[in-house]
Amino acid sequence: MKFIEARRIRNLPPYLFARIEQAIAAKKAEGVDVISLGIGDPDLPTPDRIIEEGARELHNPANHQYPSTAGLAAYRQAVADWYGRRFGVSLDPEKEVVSLIGSKEGIAHLPWCYVDPGDVVLVPDPGYPVYGAGTILAGGETYYLPLTAENGFLPDLAEIPDTVAHKAKVIFINYPNNPTGATASKEFFAQVVDFARRHEILVCHDAAYSEIAFDGYRPPSFLETPGAKEVGIEFHSVSKTYNMTGWRAGWAVGNADAVQALGRLKSNLDSGVFQAVQYAAIAALNGPRDEVQALCELYRERRDLVVDTLNGLGWRLEKPRATFYIWAPVPSGHTAVSFAERVLEKAGVVVTPGTGYGARGEGYFRISLTLPAPRLVEAMQRIRDCLDRVTL
Ligand SMILES: *Cc1c(COP(=O)(O)O)cnc(C)c1O
Repeated sequence: MKFIEARRIRNLPPYLFARIEQAIAAKKAEGVDVISLGIGDPDLPTPDRIIEEGARELHNPANHQYPSTAGLAAYRQAVADWYGRRFGVSLDPEKEVVSLIGSKEGIAHLPWCYVDPGDVVLVPDPGYPVYGAGTILAGGETYYLPLTAENGFLPDLAEIPDTVAHKAKVIFINYPNNPTGATASKEFFAQVVDFARRHEILVCHDAAYSEIAFDGYRPPSFLETPGAKEVGIEFHSVSKTYNMTGWRAGWAVGNADAVQALGRLKSNLDSGVFQAVQYAAIAALNGPRDEVQALCELYRERRDLVVDTLNGLGWRLEKPRATFYIWAPVPSGHTAVSFAERVLEKAGVVVTPGTGYGARGEGYFRISLTLPAPRLVEAMQRIRDCLDRVTL
């Protein structure tokens, strides 16, 4: 039997990391000790105090039943409290907070709430692939917003034609940014609020990396912007901040209508986050700040090691103020894919070709800092040995 897939599935681009994993497997099969700087998944374990809280709750039979889709009251309260402490943003835990099975889940589902076939979603390019995939699955059309080095990897809202803005229902933004490492000012967020108001567009800000920042920089929440709650929501999770990507606990917060629409959709799809995981996430959010600071300090050391090495080879990179990514141009004569292939073939090192994040990622590659320093040093040495002189 040959089942014909629905158009919405056929229209999805192949998930980039699935392809990379195949290439890695092939190289490993040849006996090569492959070093992957590809996927951005923290290498350190979840802090013990969080694991212990999860383990305690794992033994409580009350947690073995269906959770509520919206999330435990205590979970939503912990998220609201954290927003108050961290950003000075006040949230009503009943109406303005909904739990997610990781923020990816909410990002992928959000377009189902607001996008009818033919509606447009504004999607950054390069960007986290889930914004486009969620749009396509909902039957919407993506309009890509180029993020260029000249614009500090911020979209130029004035460049969006009125005809497009008119059809747009949702805009995704993401700062600190994956894959570019760029950060956004409060002034930029204010422009986004203004744009969204004028065109009646829901702003979806992905704040996954707000806590992974260096050199004293503290990224703002979009919701700190005056008027933001009228036009937008923010996605976030414990994944990157507390090395909890496997646990699957996130949230959407902000505009009450949008938060509740997403909750209503989800009540028809899933049954929420395992409550033991919610309790662990509460413990994470209520934990000491120096734990997160120590993690950032570790990423800062790795960032300096990688950027200093690449700059010693001829690159001229600035050190990103946030995220655990280095976004760098490929040497001249290469495309994003040819460079990634060369580095895998000659050095056994995996870097992500920029085109995995959209057409505007051409000419770039991304390195993830989620490996111990000695492995990063080894990867850098191998890259150095396999490159002739670098011209950019
Ligand atoms: C890692 C990541 C996420 C989400 O991760 P979850 O584990 O699903 O919370 C969201 N956005 C970006 C840009 C990311 O890199």
